[in-house]
Amino acid sequence: VAGLRATVLGWGDAHRRDLPWRRTRDPWCILVSEVMLQQTSVARVLALYPSFVAAYPSPAECADAGRAAVVRSWAGLGYNRRAVALHRAAVAIRDEHAGRVPSARRELLALPGVGASTARAVEAFAFGADAGIVDTNVARLLARAVAARPLTRAGAQEFADALVPPGRGWEWNQTLFDLGAGFCRATGPRCGPCPLRRRCAWRRAGNPEPDPGRHTAGTTRPQGRFAGSDRQGRGRLVAALRRAPVAASGVAAAAGWPDDAGRAERVAAALVAEGLAVRGPAGTLALA
Ligand code: SF4
Repeated sequence: VAGLRATVLGWGDAHRRDLPWRRTRDPWCILVSEVMLQQTSVARVLALYPSFVAAYPSPAECADAGRAAVVRSWAGLGYNRRAVALHRAAVAIRDEHAGRVPSARRELLALPGVGASTARAVEAFAFGADAGIVDTNVARLLARAVAARPLTRAGAQEFADALVPPGRGWEWNQTLFDLGAGFCRATGPRCGPCPLRRRCAWRRAGNPEPDPGRHTAGTTRPQGRFAGSDRQGRGRLVAALRRAPVAASGVAAAAGWPDDAGRAERVAAALVAEGLAVRGPAGTLALA
């Protein structure tokens, strides 16, 4: 464990990526970045994060701006329900925590849109806690390099917590993210140049099949084709709503399915149920 920690931290000190959310310890900015990074690439988050935190520099300012404004500001990131959840979290922080992001895990987990990984990220990156953060990349890396066998979610979390070097939770977790994304990739891990190659259990065993990373819980995100999917129509409809309310008669066209009003209506109803949209007079759809 000591050798692994030294290798990871040594590589991280020299090579860790410089990202805007790594230059701050502000709990709100870190929460925003972590919610954005759920299911979205670093490149896409980089394009939006600076303007978002400039527009909403505190939970209170985000809460006061209103949900529709926050959903408009989310354009380009996808998975718009995260914007709704983040706004709800901002309201809860403003109203129940005097405007300050809580530091206790129990309180973080009670915030809308905050799961185990996001709560631990805020603990580690904002408050310096020795919490192990398991995202898809880290789960895969731990399964290969440390366990050399597939891990359950709980198993990956146990390894992650046990390995954090005391007092170095920030550096440790950020570096594991970079190693997982840059070397220990889902397909075609780059073991040759990987700084962990001499310590990696799976590599030392000769990378035998089955790949422990591929069968570890939470390391794959099965997703159907985007083209022609409900997600695509939903994205089109939210994009139209960002511009202006959509009349009931225009919902099918806005979703890109002019000949399938039933499907468009189902997607519109889901947006309303999730709090992204509301129905106005005569069924006009608008951002909530
Ligand atoms: S040596 Fe290969 S399998 Fe092991 S951690 Fe590095 S990239 Fe992953």
